[in-house]
Amino acid sequence: MFRCKKCLNEYSKSFDNCPMCGGEIESFVPLEEKQEKQRHEAEIDKRARINQLVANEIEDLRDRVSKGKDVKLYWSFYISVDSQMELANSVTKLSPFDDSAVKIAGMKGWNVVGVVPKTSGSALQNYEGFGKTWAGGIGGNVVGAYVMMELTVNQENFDEFLDEIDAVVRSAHKVS
Ligand SMILES: [Zn+2]
Repeated sequence: MFRCKKCLNEYSKSFDNCPMCGGEIESFVPLEEKQEKQRHEAEIDKRARINQLVANEIEDLRDRVSKGKDVKLYWSFYISVDSQMELANSVTKLSPFDDSAVKIAGMKGWNVVGVVPKTSGSALQNYEGFGKTWAGGIGGNVVGAYVMMELTVNQENFDEFLDEIDAVVRSAHKVS
């Protein structure tokens, strides 16, 4: 953007002199654009710092396996299970069972080391005319499961699993 130094009129193109007052024209960066640029630069700085921290941590892990020690990677998948719900004497399937992510990870060397069920509960109500009263509730219905997976990384397979190591380090520090 351009503006007149004297009357501060703003123009999208440059002139030799201000068409309004003949004053000298200067170029300037509009505030919004400047803020956007600063925000963008701050974002790039932050990303570079995070990448550096992740790279440092991966180098620490490489150092560890180079001394003959193991590193354990953990990752959890959410899998749906084929829960059934009985409603008015008919059985409703909530979701199909799907453990394909576990199968794929298993073929790459991950072990299942734990399962945490995801449950749901619901309150029951009795309807009487326009009114309703609480009538208890049911809870603890398993609707899915979090499967905790473990992969042992050592000196031999460290480079093969660099992507997995990177993902676990970022996930552990809650950065993307
Ligand atoms: Zn002017």
